Parts: sequence; structure tokens; C-alpha cells
Amino acid sequence: MHVPALNALTQADPELAALIEGEAGRQHDTLRMIASENYVSQAVLEATGTVLTNKYSEGYAGKRYYEGQRFIDPIEELAVARARALFGVDHANVQPYSGSPANLAVYMALAKPGDTVMGMALPMGGHLTHGWSVSATGAWFRPVRYTVRQSDGRIDFDEVRDIALRERPKIIFSGGTAIPRTIDFPRFAEIAREVGAVLVADIAHIAGLIAGGAHPSPVGHAEIISTTTHKTLRGPRGAMLMSDEQHAKALDKAVFPGLQGGPHNHTTAGIAVALAEASTPSFSAYAHQIVANAKALAAALTDRGFDLVSGGTDNHLILLDLTTKNIGGKPAARALDRAGIETNYNTVPYDTRKPFDPSGVRLGTPALTTRGLTEAEMPQVAEWISRAVDAAIKDDEQSLDTIAGEVRDLLKSYPMPGWK
Ligand SMILES: *Cc1c(COP(=O)(O)O)cnc(C)c1O
Repeated sequence: MHVPALNALTQADPELAALIEGEAGRQHDTLRMIASENYVSQAVLEATGTVLTNKYSEGYAGKRYYEGQRFIDPIEELAVARARALFGVDHANVQPYSGSPANLAVYMALAKPGDTVMGMALPMGGHLTHGWSVSATGAWFRPVRYTVRQSDGRIDFDEVRDIALRERPKIIFSGGTAIPRTIDFPRFAEIAREVGAVLVADIAHIAGLIAGGAHPSPVGHAEIISTTTHKTLRGPRGAMLMSDEQHAKALDKAVFPGLQGGPHNHTTAGIAVALAEASTPSFSAYAHQIVANAKALAAALTDRGFDLVSGGTDNHLILLDLTTKNIGGKPAARALDRAGIETNYNTVPYDTRKPFDPSGVRLGTPALTTRGLTEAEMPQVAEWISRAVDAAIKDDEQSLDTIAGEVRDLLKSYPMPGWK
């Protein structure tokens, strides 16, 4: 059952309450391995489900356009102070509605339509908002893109530098959504400085690892840091922009009034809670356990004959290249889901298949680490993944259902915040 209990909702709208209960049960019974997902704590759930959702607060603390802010201002100030302390930055803005609008605010603060911007190509592991053509950021600016080397799946900094010197972008984005390796922020910063670009570190995926000391920080290298709050950082769906003093004003103006109206105060409160949680020793242990689990899983999958892009992982995610298994990423991901293992199909660098039916599956360990799984369980997880992929190739749905039962049995011993 969902916790807190959905008593009033069940009375008022039983159809919707049943759907939410269903989702809670699904999250409990599934090995959730989508690399961008997690389970927030009971405390974060409570903060985001409060009357703060009733309040309008356009502006910033002390400079609002609506009355009645005597509790809202300190809530937002708490979130900002905690973000500054946790990441060691001069400035933080906790109002962006999510990662994509946060990135749009970066463009608005630093560039004009038509300006050259640089990011990692989407099929190589970059994000849509780093200038991919179907995104507003690719349509309204002039994007140039770097890749990874075909030989080892790593960023080729000679290529990054060559493109930057030739194209002179205003902004360089580092970071992405399917990068299994440590991001070399100092190297990016060196190139950005050489060409006079502003370096943005989009740490949406790895913010929790950075907060916990399990990935090097971009602070002191990237002038601007963009992050979501709901991935490894384990907060509510939202985002933050952080920066040095020099860029603070432009970023704040771009978020409000540039792109947004009133901030989502219930989300701000949830972010404040998550930031406090992320500053504890137990969160640092969590961040390191995410990486230990991913490395153990990568080793076990390699032993079972899987190809991993870049040959392994340094962080929370693994990108499987299924080319040699003779199955596409999409049917594999669908079979895994039936087997109680939730993933997403994903392009791999230099994919020979189409984006809607690519060769890869992306796996992540943040959510299962929150449930309490450790390295000891990773060989079993790899065995299930391997059996499910084999079953998918043979169209053996019965085996998939058997695995789903085994997954459910294991997860009974690992509590989930938000469900009892
Ligand atoms: C998830 C993500 C985003 C976008 O976040 P949304 O909240 O989905 O808009 C931006 N950049 C990177 C690198 C991401 O991983």
C-alpha cells in the first residue's frame, strides 16, 4: 500500500487512487534499472505533497510579486543555502521546473538565437537540450557536436578542441545521459578557456555521485552547473542552476522572468529535504555503493558475454551493446520489463540501427542501491538479464514470467520508501 495512505483520494477518486496504488506496487516488485530514476525518501514524498502547492511566489526571496511569503522565503533560502554548501558553489537557483527548462535558461542567459553552441551528439550519449536538432536548442541556435571514439567509446578531446577552435562556440556543454565514464571537467575547461567559451557542466545524471564524493566535481572548472534533482541526487522532479558570482544575475533573470512564472514551492521544499539528506555520511556511502554495484554488475555481465560500451563503467550506468547477441535494444528492453527488470532501449555510439529501434540497452544502479542491494546481488541480477535476453531471442514468455517471480521474491526483503 502507498504510504502516506491515499484515504481522501480513494474516497474522492477511486479510479485514480487505484492507478497510483498500482504504480506503487509495480515500483515495489520491479528491479528498476532506468539509470535516470530513483526512489525518493518518505520525507521528500511528504514535503512534495503539502499545501505549499497552493502558493504563488514569482520572484526571489525578499523580492516577490505576491504577498504572504513569510514561510515560502525561508524555505527557498534553505534550499539555496543547502545547495551552495553541498556543492561548494557561490550561487544556486532552485526554481527551474526540470532539467530541460534549466538548460534553456542557460542559453537565454549566455547566447542569442543563431549563436554557435557545442555539445555531445545525442546518439553518442549527449542530451537533447545540448543542441540536438529536434530540440528548441538545436532549432534556435547553431549547434556543433562532438562524439566519442569508435575504438574505445571515450570522448576524443583532440576532436573536441579541433571543433571548438574551428567553430568558436559561445557555450560548451559537458555531460550527458548515457556516458558510462568519468567526465574530465578540467580538460573541458582548458578547451573552453582557450576558445573563450563558457563551460557548462550538465551533471543531471551524476549530481548524487558528485555530492557523495563518488565522481569529481566540476566546481572550479565549469562556470555554470546545471542539474536535475530527481536522478542520483534522489530528490523530487526538478532542477537547479549553480554558478560563480559572475553568472548569477544572468541565470536568475533567465529563469524568472525569462522563462518561468511562479516557482513550484512544494518541489522547492522537497529539494531542500533531499539536499540535507545528500549532505550526510550515509548518502556518501550510498553514492559509493551505486558505483560499486555498477562495477560488479558490469563485471558479471562481461563474464556472461555481453559487450559494454567503453568496456565497463566508472559511474552508475552501463550501456549494453546487443549487436553480437543478435537482438535489438527494443525487444530486449521489452522482454526485460516482462521479466521484472525495467530498463530503456538506447542508441550506442555509431549505432547501425535506427534511433527508435537501436542496438543498446541502458542500465543503472541508483534505484536498486536505494532499495539496499549490494555487490553480493549483482551476479544474480546479471544472470536474470542474461536469461531474459536469451528468452527474448527464443520468444519464450514463460521464462520471462518465471524471472519476474524470482525478482519479486528477492525484492520482498528490500523495503521501498512510499510503500508498505
Ligand atoms: C535528464 C537530463 C536532462 C533533462 O531533465 P528533464 O528533467 O527530463 O527535463 C538534461 N540533461 C541531462 C544530461 C539529463 O540527463
